Amino acid sequence: MSAREIDSAVDNLAYQLNRDLAGKKPIFLGILNGSFMVLADLVRKFQHPCEIAFIKAKSYDGTQSTGQVKLEGLDLDLSNRTVVVVEDIVDTGLTVVTLSRKLTQLNPKELLVATLFLKPDVYKQELKIDYVGLNIENKFVVGYGMDYNNLGRELPQLYVQTNKMKNIV
Ligand code: 5GP
Repeated sequence: MSAREIDSAVDNLAYQLNRDLAGKKPIFLGILNGSFMVLADLVRKFQHPCEIAFIKAKSYDGTQSTGQVKLEGLDLDLSNRTVVVVEDIVDTGLTVVTLSRKLTQLNPKELLVATLFLKPDVYKQELKIDYVGLNIENKFVVGYGMDYNNLGRELPQLYVQTNKMKNIV
């Protein structure tokens, strides 16, 4: 996927957030490591006052979900705030569901979930994903913040991971 197509997906997400969140002074909560790029691009398209914070989540080992999510950085004051979780990609949804449970305990006024990419063929959780930039196929992708074994996050385009890629990134 080209950088231009990714930018259109970010535009789509920004359009929805601008439409719904004017005057709410939301906290955009980026989920590291993958979401650093989308968050940086997204907030530049957000036309209202907002705050930015990060949480670190890890569930993948290579291309495999480990089935467990480790979270760091949850010591945030979110009480009575509109919080928007910003994910790079939602696949099984394990990360976002685990995180939402934890964040709800911090008493936000409103907890919303935004993701640049969603794999609808995989995502079967009850939790509603409030904002989606683009639905994509069930393939492991690399680039635009997303890694393969910690490499490839810097790529401006999105690539489908292949065996060949093992030699490249
Ligand atoms: P989930 O918990 O929804 O299965 O996955 C969420 C996290 O796993 C994402 O934030 C991302 O870090 C990683 N992930 C899921 N699918 C992909 C993918 O296709 N490519 C890469 N590089 N990471 C992914």
